[in-house]
Amino acid sequence: MVDLATQYHRLKPEIDKAIQSAIDSSQFIKGPHVKVFEDNLAAYLGVKHVISCANGTDALQIALMALGLQPGDEVITPSHTYVATVEVIALLRLKPVFVEVNADTYTIDVAEIEKAISPKTKAIVPVHLYGQCADMETILDIASKHKLFVVEDNAQAIGAEYTFSNGQKAKSGTMGNIGTTSFFPSKNLGCYGDGGALFTNDDALAKTIRMVANHGQSVTYVHDIVGVNSRLDTIQAAILDVKLKQLNDFAARRNAVADFYDKAFAGQSKMKLPFRAPYTNHVFHQYTIRLSGVNRDEVKKKLLEKGIPSMIYYPIPVHLQNAYRSAEYKEGSFPLTESLSETIISIPIHTEFEQEQLRYIADNFISIVNS
Ligand SMILES: *Cc1c(COP(=O)(O)O)cnc(C)c1O
Repeated sequence: MVDLATQYHRLKPEIDKAIQSAIDSSQFIKGPHVKVFEDNLAAYLGVKHVISCANGTDALQIALMALGLQPGDEVITPSHTYVATVEVIALLRLKPVFVEVNADTYTIDVAEIEKAISPKTKAIVPVHLYGQCADMETILDIASKHKLFVVEDNAQAIGAEYTFSNGQKAKSGTMGNIGTTSFFPSKNLGCYGDGGALFTNDDALAKTIRMVANHGQSVTYVHDIVGVNSRLDTIQAAILDVKLKQLNDFAARRNAVADFYDKAFAGQSKMKLPFRAPYTNHVFHQYTIRLSGVNRDEVKKKLLEKGIPSMIYYPIPVHLQNAYRSAEYKEGSFPLTESLSETIISIPIHTEFEQEQLRYIADNFISIVNS
C-alpha cells in the first residue's frame, strides 16, 4: 500500500544527517529538534501553536481533555472513521453520538449534524477522511450557533487546504478550536515510529494542551490538572522536519497517482471514483473506490493473487463494533456508512510509483472488477 523504503532512500542523506544530529544532541526527550519542528510546522500550517505528542490517538484525547469536557458530555462524530476518533471519547466517559456521512465525500454529513445535537452536546469531531477536508464552513457555523467546540481529526489530511465561500483559505486542522494529527509512518507526513501533534490558534488553549500532555504540570513537579505523558521523540522530530519540507511534493506525487487512476478508470460502470469536493483540495491519503455489482472480497483476493495489496478503510463501522454498540446503535442505524464498509476498497497510493507499476495495478484492477 505504501513504499516507505524507496522514499527513505530518496531522502537518505538528509534524513541520516538529521538522525545523527539528534543523537549528537543526546537530548532524546524534548531536544532542540522538537521545538524547531513544531515551529516549522506551525509556519507551514499558518497556525499559532503546534504541540507535538506521542501519537494521533493521544492528540485526540489531549484535545478533549484540554477542552475540559466532563463525563456524560456528548461528542458528535461520524461512525465511518478509524476507531481512535471514538475510542478517546469513550475512554474519557464522554458519549459518542454518531452521524451519517455524505454520499460523495464520505466525510460527516453536515445536513445530519443538527438533528444529533442535544442539551448535552459539547463538541463536534469531524474527520478529514482519505485526505480531503470535511465541509468545515458549515460545521463551524453550526458549532458557533450551538456554542460547541470543534476538534478536527486531521490524521489523514495534513497539508490539505480548505477554501471558504469568501475565498479565504485555511490549512486542514487549523479551523476548529483544535486540530489533531498523526505521524504514523504511513500517514502523509509520517515519522519512523509513532508521533502526533495538536494545532490551535488559541493561546490559552495551547498552554492547557502543553500542560495536559506533560502530566498536567505548569512548573516542574507542580501539577494543576490531571494530565498524561505524551511526547514526540527528538529523533522523530528531526526526521519529520526533513519530511515537512517535502510535504507539498508528497501531495503532488499522490495527486499524480490519483489522476492516473481517475483517467484509467473513467467510464468503469462498477466503480465510483473518489469525489473531489469543491471547497477543499485533496492530498490523497487513500484512493478509495466504491464498487457495485461485484463481490468486493473476491476482488481483494484476486488482486492479492496478482501481488497487488488493497485495504478496506474500514470494514466494520465503529457503531457496530462490540466495544461501541449500544441500544441506540445497531444494524441499519447508518445505512450509507454500513454500505460503504461492504463496498469500498482502497488501492495502493504513495509517493514513489513508477508508471509501469501504476499501469499494472490499473489494468489488473479493471479486468478483475469486470471478470
Ligand atoms: C491514524 C489515525 C488516527 C490515530 O493515529 P495514531 O498515531 O495511530 O494513534 C486517528 N484518526 C484517524 C482518522 C487516523 O487515520
